Amino acid sequence: FKSFAEKLKNTGNRWTQSVSNLFSDDPVTDDFWDELEENLILGDVGIDTIETLIADLKQVMVDRRITNKRELKAAFAELLISRLEAVPGMGKPLDLSRKPSVVIMIGVNGSGKTTTSGKLASQLKAQGRHVIMAAADTFRAAAIEQLKAWGERAGVRVVAQAQDSDPAAVVYDSIMAAKAAGDDVIIADTAGRLHTKSNLMEELSKVTRVIKREIPEGPSEVLIVLDAVTGQNGFMQAETFSKAMPITGVVLTKFDNTSKGGIVIAIADRLKMPIRYVGLGEGIDDLQLFDPRTFVETLLD
Ligand code: GDP
Repeated sequence: FKSFAEKLKNTGNRWTQSVSNLFSDDPVTDDFWDELEENLILGDVGIDTIETLIADLKQVMVDRRITNKRELKAAFAELLISRLEAVPGMGKPLDLSRKPSVVIMIGVNGSGKTTTSGKLASQLKAQGRHVIMAAADTFRAAAIEQLKAWGERAGVRVVAQAQDSDPAAVVYDSIMAAKAAGDDVIIADTAGRLHTKSNLMEELSKVTRVIKREIPEGPSEVLIVLDAVTGQNGFMQAETFSKAMPITGVVLTKFDNTSKGGIVIAIADRLKMPIRYVGLGEGIDDLQLFDPRTFVETLLD
């Protein structure tokens, strides 16, 4: 795998470039603060977060008697890293200590759940884990077929039933199959239709109940998959889904396609949810563990 930093650099994320360019060797002027604010707005950091960030940075500047932008850049980097690291679990690898560990992917259609399931299965398998996937998005026939295709690519078994079958039953089957085969990790892809009458949240609660019957501690990880391109629109989704299942982390997909890289900071500050992985492309290797320090250092490189 290429490193997270290398991939981030290659994603053509224009936002990181423009923020970095603000910090030159010149003295800090009033214009600088306007430009910084404008850039953070364009990056989708969110206005409340921006106000507190800028206030904190101005304070550090006074406290440390900073006069030029180069020194200010280092102070800004520290500030961003501490904001990100203030969220428990930020950038931590998945807890896969149980056997089997169930990892549930939730999120709206099109956010990248199926793709992320496949990428994650491949990555965990490469680390020597025995992985199985559950096709619990039974609402869309295409989702089942897509997950099977990812299973083939990753060399990982996929437990599936017919379209419209009960997702909880598919997850139950996958737990039985994992226990019989001695698999370590079950990755469950789930449905994401928020707009139809059938109750997705009830369906997800049932999945949790079924898991708890077999594994009393419940799922090891519940990852909400958010599309970076839609920016802060994803926040409502996260709030809705967190009513059905306690979310343990965020996978931020399509980071390669967005100029709103500041969404990372908004997720930490507003949602207080840890980012665990970032999707940087459509390929099987395009999933990286999120590392706050590398992210900020690349941003301000
Ligand atoms: P689901 O409905 O949530 O399961 O979403 P899919 O996994 O089907 O993904 C929807 C689309 O987003 C597909 O075309 C994927 O190839 C694409 N996609 C997913 N993750 C990424 C990513 O990190 N980068 C890019 N560029 N595309 C992605």
